[in-house]
Amino acid sequence: YFITFEGGEGAGKTSILHSLEKKLTSLGYDVLATREPGGIDIAEKIRHIILDPAHTAMDGRTEALLYAAARRQHLAEKVLPALEEGKIVLCDRFIDSSLAYQGYARGLGMEEVFSINQFAIQDCMPDMTLFFDIQPKKGLERITANKDRERNRLDLEKLAFHESVYEAYQLLVSKFPQRIHVINADQPFTQVEDETCSQIVSRLENNVKG
Ligand code: C5P
Ligand code: MG
Repeated sequence: YFITFEGGEGAGKTSILHSLEKKLTSLGYDVLATREPGGIDIAEKIRHIILDPAHTAMDGRTEALLYAAARRQHLAEKVLPALEEGKIVLCDRFIDSSLAYQGYARGLGMEEVFSINQFAIQDCMPDMTLFFDIQPKKGLERITANKDRERNRLDLEKLAFHESVYEAYQLLVSKFPQRIHVINADQPFTQVEDETCSQIVSRLENNVKG
């Protein structure tokens, strides 16, 4: 069962994902936690190229193709084998990030970015996606409050860009209401954690029941 975690910066995706890995494991589920872009050596190297602030000349389409390439390798090498073993895969970001960031916010077009990603993932769409919903301004404030963490990112991308990413996620939520579940990420950590856990567990139980 393939579950992806989506949302803007500072939504808490990564922390919640790791706490859910522990919770679900303690409930007896066989869980693999991973992230994008990255998760395995080749894709982590591609991530490094994409996120290098010195690469100011990087073309938008090049960037979108690199994300798709990292996604393909990560899927083929790590995610698909785990799914075949019957694991529950929790993935920090997936195709919706590309649709929101490159397709919408960077203006390449969601349809076009979807088509290169279709080539990359074939039919392997997530069974369930959680969108961690927080106003972009609040999310960004959370990151800046945490001073040691990747501060330079904020200089790279301004609020307007993140507003646009947020808008894109809203569009995706309305386009894929069956797949994408909205989690209110603007609440205390333990509440977000509980809400996420119950959404996943009820979905997994329904899935088993058929
Ligand atoms: O989720 P994480 O914090 O690891 O993302 C790293 C960076 O990559 C973020 O700044 C995010 O905005 C960016 N990103 C992107 N397009 C994607 C995925 C991530 O611009 N498709
Ligand atoms: Mg994160």
